[in-house]
Amino acid sequence: MTSIPPATTTQALSSISERTATLAATAISQATGTAKVSCPGQTGKTVANAACCALFPLLSDLQTLFTIDVNDSQCPESARGFLRLAFHDAMGFSMTNPQIGDGADGSILTFSDTELSYKVNAGLVDKVTLLKPLGLAHNLSDGDVLHFAAAAGLATCPGAPSLSFLLGRPAAKRAASANMPGPALPTDDVTTILARFHDVGFTPDEVIALLAAHSTGSNYVLDPMAVQAPFDTTPEMFDSQFYIETLLPGKFGNESVSGEVQAQQPGIVRLQSDFLLARDSRTTCKWQGLMGNQAVMAAEFQSAMLKLQILGQDSSLLTDCSDVISPAPGLPNGVRPHIPAGYRFQDLDLSQTCSTSNPTPTTFIPSDPGSVTFASAE
Ligand code: CA
Ligand code: CA
Repeated sequence: MTSIPPATTTQALSSISERTATLAATAISQATGTAKVSCPGQTGKTVANAACCALFPLLSDLQTLFTIDVNDSQCPESARGFLRLAFHDAMGFSMTNPQIGDGADGSILTFSDTELSYKVNAGLVDKVTLLKPLGLAHNLSDGDVLHFAAAAGLATCPGAPSLSFLLGRPAAKRAASANMPGPALPTDDVTTILARFHDVGFTPDEVIALLAAHSTGSNYVLDPMAVQAPFDTTPEMFDSQFYIETLLPGKFGNESVSGEVQAQQPGIVRLQSDFLLARDSRTTCKWQGLMGNQAVMAAEFQSAMLKLQILGQDSSLLTDCSDVISPAPGLPNGVRPHIPAGYRFQDLDLSQTCSTSNPTPTTFIPSDPGSVTFASAE
């Protein structure tokens, strides 16, 4: 755990955040420009750093898991679930309270009996069960297994950026505290969410960028009547539909569920927290700026995820193994940002005025023809 220097909280956060970014950049640059080495006994597998060869057998096991969901070989539910699990592991962390936990250390696997009893970690047991045997099987720490699985999983989702993966997390030493707030709850207000992420080292813009994960996300436990209902109409694609659709009027869904508000069409679950973040004056301009802006959305998510996946780690001790994971496929031909049928661009809630440095979208987003349709989960 990095200790907080005797400075103001803001200074401390800034200092640690900058140091973390520098260390990460250093670790990554060490691999840049290095000749590739062939992995012994693994035909065709080459990496910049020989230590990374140990990850290919894990990758093979994960790819087998991803194909278990026979109906969705791209961006399967298991892969999307590993990304969610990585968030819940990493967010057991605080820059101001070292007792909260050690961040992206795999503690949610190592100490699963404890951490899965926390309300904030509800619905994660299936993914923990899948990953828990893999550390022992491949002689890797639980932290490395989990955060590699998240990166490898996202790489199955069309449109996703390549996440960096740094190898070498030591074994988790303790469970995150029962007081661990975890990632934001759907019932949280914007002030609470931004404060929570600030305490972990993220700016409001980075919070909005991290929410791109909801482009491939689904409801697990919030609404038991809509299990696996997605947050946008394209959960199998890492696109910007989540940002677009959350700004449309809400007409369908179960408002009686605390933390859920109505969505633009049936079959979609809209989180109250997403609804609020999309419209709050502190975050709406970033939100609007990511609508239909695939390249920026992917790049900012990639950058924020690197921070998230090394929270609590000394990245100068880690080895960049990002090259083990092949890049994700691009979005299919013809897939473009669009307004779902039944709505027009004018229906987007763009009522907040944004500055020229963070403008409202200037690119018109076309509508699908027809009337409102049911959005199927897969
Ligand atoms: Ca953890
Ligand atoms: Ca999507």
